[in-house]
Amino acid sequence: PLHAMWFRNDLRILDNPALQAACSSGSKVLAIYLYTPDQHKLHHAGDTKLRFVLENAVSLRRDLEQAGITFAALRCTTYSDSVNTLVKLCKHHNVTRVFANREMELNEIRRDRSAQQALAAAGTELQFSHDQTLLKPGSVLTGAGTPFKVFSAFKRAWLKDISNCELTPFSAPKKQTPVEMDSTAEEEILSWAPKQPANQWWPAGSQVAQQQLDSFVQRSIEQYKETRDTPSIDGTSRLSPYLAVGALSLRRCFYEALLANNMEWDSGSVGIRTWINELIWREFYKHLTCLNPDLSKGCAFQPKTEAIPWLHDRQRLQCWQQGKTGYPLVDAGMRQLNETGWMHNRLRMVTAMFLTKHLFVNWRLGEAYFMQKLVDADFSANNGGWQWSASTGADAVPYFRVFSPQRQSERFDRDGDFIRQWVPELSTLNSKQIHNPSAAQREACGYPAPIVDHKTAVDQVKAAFKDQLN
Ligand code: FAD
Repeated sequence: PLHAMWFRNDLRILDNPALQAACSSGSKVLAIYLYTPDQHKLHHAGDTKLRFVLENAVSLRRDLEQAGITFAALRCTTYSDSVNTLVKLCKHHNVTRVFANREMELNEIRRDRSAQQALAAAGTELQFSHDQTLLKPGSVLTGAGTPFKVFSAFKRAWLKDISNCELTPFSAPKKQTPVEMDSTAEEEILSWAPKQPANQWWPAGSQVAQQQLDSFVQRSIEQYKETRDTPSIDGTSRLSPYLAVGALSLRRCFYEALLANNMEWDSGSVGIRTWINELIWREFYKHLTCLNPDLSKGCAFQPKTEAIPWLHDRQRLQCWQQGKTGYPLVDAGMRQLNETGWMHNRLRMVTAMFLTKHLFVNWRLGEAYFMQKLVDADFSANNGGWQWSASTGADAVPYFRVFSPQRQSERFDRDGDFIRQWVPELSTLNSKQIHNPSAAQREACGYPAPIVDHKTAVDQVKAAFKDQLN
């Protein structure tokens, strides 16, 4: 009998649990990839991400070829279309078992349930492996058996449980005998990509991702704690796009970091432990998404915050999107996003908090814009980050945490280097002026006046939260 590996957000052959299971099953394996642009668009995915996904599919095809595995890629529309296509394909090739890695978001869970039923009706088994998190959602719970609502407590319990977990990544699957059909041509896969120039910032593929991980661990991870908050420094791993499409395994990231720390979780290098802490944030948000299906329906994590009368002010939203708010650091971050498809984490917090707390615009509009622009768009991390910033989410600190964009700028872009790079009209200002240019300087540079006054805006948002929550 023929078996199949159904690739989704796990576009790699290395350390891929479902592929490992398929290749150890003793049958020939057909690799399947079903591209669903209409579904991705419903989830607000933009051109940069879609192109990156397809480029990674092409890179996967090459790796599979080396491993003797045939790759059948098909263009579908939505998830339900992909399920129909999968069933037809399996019937046609007489596939008796399909292997896949589980996903955590609601539409993905529904797709997998309906695929399992439809395949079962046709006599084919769909078998899942676990890949998106190290510990399964639902396995890390409070003493009362409920999910954690704050990160620090989750992390403590998670660290306790992880010690029983096998972390060594799988080696490459053993060479397979190809099935008698041709793989889908690279040109065909790329012909589905949105017509836009290839993104020079993010070369695709597992090899690139692995090299980037190696070089980060060798050169930068030790200094991560000091460098991670300075956007003008290349101090973070920039692995998020590869993790988002699964070109790199999360387990390998944990493993390489631990290896560099003598397999110690809570002693040794502060830089390494700080990086591991960020990977656990990723884990935390995946667990939240899986255990709270309402998050995938656009609900606030804290139901009482649904009453906040957020604005749907298109003009404010547009100024923010275009990087024209008159707050230099906010604008620099938004322009970095628009140009490269990625934004530094410090600035994701600053810009998200600015849209919600200064402009009082509904966080869901910012969340959707990030999904549309980010090459690393990931529902759980993005939704978690937005709800954290808007104080509707899983955050131990109450709503009155509001970043001052000027203060953030003075702290994290002290000399103004990052602003100069992305807001070149301000490049002649010195490192004191650049954080908050005077009216005359703005006029001379052709840079807008602040869209709102910091203090007035913050007073208003605090009053609005207080009204609704007390
Ligand atoms: P590093 O600092 O090197 O961290 C390593 C990895 O840890 C990252 O690649 C990422 O997978 C994970 N990670 C780090 N910080 C976080 C975090 N706060 N939450 C969850 N995972 C984290 N991350 C995404 O991958 N996709 C998103 O769509 C996304 N949207 C965000 C939106 C907002 C409003 C905020 C505040 C954060 C968002 N993040 C998102 C989290 C974080 O900003 C990025 O993961 C990080 O900037 C990626 O850069 P890096 O790979 O160099 O990270």
